[in-house]
Amino acid sequence: MSAIPDLESLHARGAAQQPSYPDRAAVDAAVTKLRTMPPLVFAGECDDLTDKIAAVTRGEAFLLQGGDCAETFAGVTADNVRNKLRVLLQMAVVLTYAGSVPVVKVGRLAGQYAKPRSSDNETRTVDGQSVTLPAYRGDAVNGFEFTPESRVPDPQRLVDVYNASAATLNLVRAFVTGGYADLRQVHTWNTDFVRSSPIGQRYESMAADIERALTFMKAIGADPDEFHRVDFHSSHEALVLEYEHAMTRIDSRTDAPYDVSGHFVWIGERTRQLDGAHVELLSKIRNPIGVKLGPTTSADDAIALAAKLNPDNIPGRLTFITRFGAGKIREGLPDLVEKVTAAGLQVAWVCDPMHGNTFEASSGYKTRKFEDVIDELQGFFDVHRALGTWPGGIHIELTGDDVTECVGGGEELAEIDLGNRYESVCDPRLNRVQSLETAFLVAEMLRK
Ligand code: PEP
Ligand code: MN
Repeated sequence: MSAIPDLESLHARGAAQQPSYPDRAAVDAAVTKLRTMPPLVFAGECDDLTDKIAAVTRGEAFLLQGGDCAETFAGVTADNVRNKLRVLLQMAVVLTYAGSVPVVKVGRLAGQYAKPRSSDNETRTVDGQSVTLPAYRGDAVNGFEFTPESRVPDPQRLVDVYNASAATLNLVRAFVTGGYADLRQVHTWNTDFVRSSPIGQRYESMAADIERALTFMKAIGADPDEFHRVDFHSSHEALVLEYEHAMTRIDSRTDAPYDVSGHFVWIGERTRQLDGAHVELLSKIRNPIGVKLGPTTSADDAIALAAKLNPDNIPGRLTFITRFGAGKIREGLPDLVEKVTAAGLQVAWVCDPMHGNTFEASSGYKTRKFEDVIDELQGFFDVHRALGTWPGGIHIELTGDDVTECVGGGEELAEIDLGNRYESVCDPRLNRVQSLETAFLVAEMLRK
């Protein structure tokens, strides 16, 4: 593996979606500080995840990747992190039990703080006046508050990302190894409002089945470690080069570079240029990585990306996360999957049913229809089933809370409800009920 390119040479590639920092010395200081910080994840853990995704690539496991569109520093609270973890654990149990597949669990958390934007600026009407300011690019870059001061990119925030990610990951690790993720907690994860909803009741009855099975296993003397803890991994979009570069380290065991800011990092739809900085940097690290592929992706683009990012064709190394939109997936995806497969490329195929289905409600809120999300997932399964390839997983924007950001679903949230509890600072997330409903529907798709 060749050396890690330096930051200047990456920027010289005209890196897309980077903050325009006003003070270069402050950037250098933040990068220098980050380079001294201990790894957030270990290279060996990244390798374990690669092995697990290799099983996804072979059609033997299913990837569940989910979390906020954008984490916020204010969102690093015990309740918030626990609620996200809980909904992911519940979804994983539904998929494992009802879908009968091992589930690889990856949070979009502990690092998901930087956002690519379709416009560099945002215009709002303030006191009857039209005001244009730099767009919010995530807490990693600038503040959400709509004031000129808050929107100035501040490199100290990169150090804050490190600290927020460390706190989040510490809590997640404590939860998953400290008994919270024990399968015997399968009922406890459901003990609040969800129990009173139809989907909560459906979950309860499944949990009762699982509990009976666990009691039976215990009675016959089987009580494996897997019942008491789960493997849970972190992931985020590798977007701000300063941060990802500073967190890229040579692993002493293997002499290979790993980006130790998260187990799995991905390249977004807007930064996947073949000669671009992000593809270059991620081609040099040994973590399992993903690339988002939107509806304009040609099979040649995907094949060239695979050649650059996974030249040794290692299973588990590369995941293609397709995000076509419900209206385009059935038409667009087959050619891509067919040609990538025919080229003999080892990739895990994962569906992001969120980013191709965003629209603006008349009230101005960015939203998504639950029905479109499910329709894209169904299209993804249909295409892979027809081609004999494995629909390897789902990549979802969700929260463990009862927010009102996506319309539809069993609660029949309407556009008029969006203002009740819209908390996302970026894209709309499925709430807890909608997330669980998705898991049950995907489990059905898996069974067929
Ligand atoms: C995202 O995952 O939040 C995102 C911006 O996705 P994409 O790169 O697919 O647009
Ligand atoms: Mn998003």
